[in-house]
Amino acid sequence: MPSYLSEPDAGRRIMARCDELGRISEPGEGVTRLYLSRQHKVAAETLVAWMTDAGMDARIDEVGNVIGRYHSQAGGGPYLVTGSHMDSVVNAGRYDGPLGVLTSLDCVAVLNARGRRFPFGIEVVAFGDEEGTRFRTTLAGSRAITGQHGDDLLNAKDENGLTMREAMAKFGLDPTRISAAAHRPEEVIGYVEIHIEQGPVLQAEDLPVGVVTAISGQTRAMVKLKGAANHAGTVPMGMRHDPMLAASEIALAVESIAASHQNTVGTVGVIKAEPGLINVIPGEVSLSLDLRSQVDDVRKAAYAQFAAAATEIAERRGVGIEIDVILDLESCPCAPAFINQLDSAVEKTGLRAIRLPSGAGHDGMAMSTLTDIGMIFVRCKDGVSHSPQESVTAQDVAAGAAVLLNFIENFQRNT
Ligand SMILES: [Zn+2]
Repeated sequence: MPSYLSEPDAGRRIMARCDELGRISEPGEGVTRLYLSRQHKVAAETLVAWMTDAGMDARIDEVGNVIGRYHSQAGGGPYLVTGSHMDSVVNAGRYDGPLGVLTSLDCVAVLNARGRRFPFGIEVVAFGDEEGTRFRTTLAGSRAITGQHGDDLLNAKDENGLTMREAMAKFGLDPTRISAAAHRPEEVIGYVEIHIEQGPVLQAEDLPVGVVTAISGQTRAMVKLKGAANHAGTVPMGMRHDPMLAASEIALAVESIAASHQNTVGTVGVIKAEPGLINVIPGEVSLSLDLRSQVDDVRKAAYAQFAAAATEIAERRGVGIEIDVILDLESCPCAPAFINQLDSAVEKTGLRAIRLPSGAGHDGMAMSTLTDIGMIFVRCKDGVSHSPQESVTAQDVAAGAAVLLNFIENFQRNT
């Protein structure tokens, strides 16, 4: 059987393993590999074998993350942590998560084959739960590593009523030992992750990779508009208090407010009318707001504008309004020293370095409470993710791998 590195092209090597890992899935068109499932266990055991093969001490930790350690010249840590997640949404693609794990693994395999070690070790992590698909709780894997795993996670239930605590025991883990997964701050000197972009910017810029500046903060709110339900045929247009028309105007206000701020996006993903009948003017309409920006002050200013605009629209149309903020998550900036070093790694591979924010959440949000973080995005076709249509090219993956390897080889602490 040919050895892993007998394929000379890093992009092809990594994509072949993404395919192989992608086959460890519930049946169906796309990849479905949920936290603490049988597929998770098989994938974790596969990764342990691949990591061991690449010269790492590898194991499944106390919450089901896979941890592979490639030790320093002196034989231990501290460790530069790199990786991504191994769980998926339902009917996912092969690259969201695994690309980061397998690119990190590839870099270590290459360094190990060259006999190259550094004053620091490299720890490759495949987080067990990032998407939160099964228990509707995100980042359980990275939260355990950063010591933030608690009863809120353990008591969460899947759709069959099984708690995370029970699922852990079934998987073969001891839920009373979770705290042992936590890393001490002095063991870790940084976290860097490669991930598909999940957006269309790199494709539009015609670039294979980009350097992430921050994981955007988010405000989520539900807006309830109350009017007067009435007959669609009998009430003249000028005599209505129609909350659906207020909701429509508010949705358009979200568009113009978000567009008036840099790197800010606003979405109305839910509109629900009551009673929801074709011949009745709605009596009540609820709509959602999802507002994101990498700069918290900008997001807060945009939210204040939204709240003022929504209130004005409701008043003018004679409908009642209630706004309920359900999430207010601060932005998570990447460390300037990591951004600069990733920029130079991109340039050294002969590419133009561009910076962009991450509108989606990532394990870096939890890891940033422990250490400095950095992220590299790899172009994906049409920005599509969370779908079997997720697609990357071997050339772009090779570019991502070259950037990560260059970053590791030249990594300077405390710059
Ligand atoms: Zn992901």
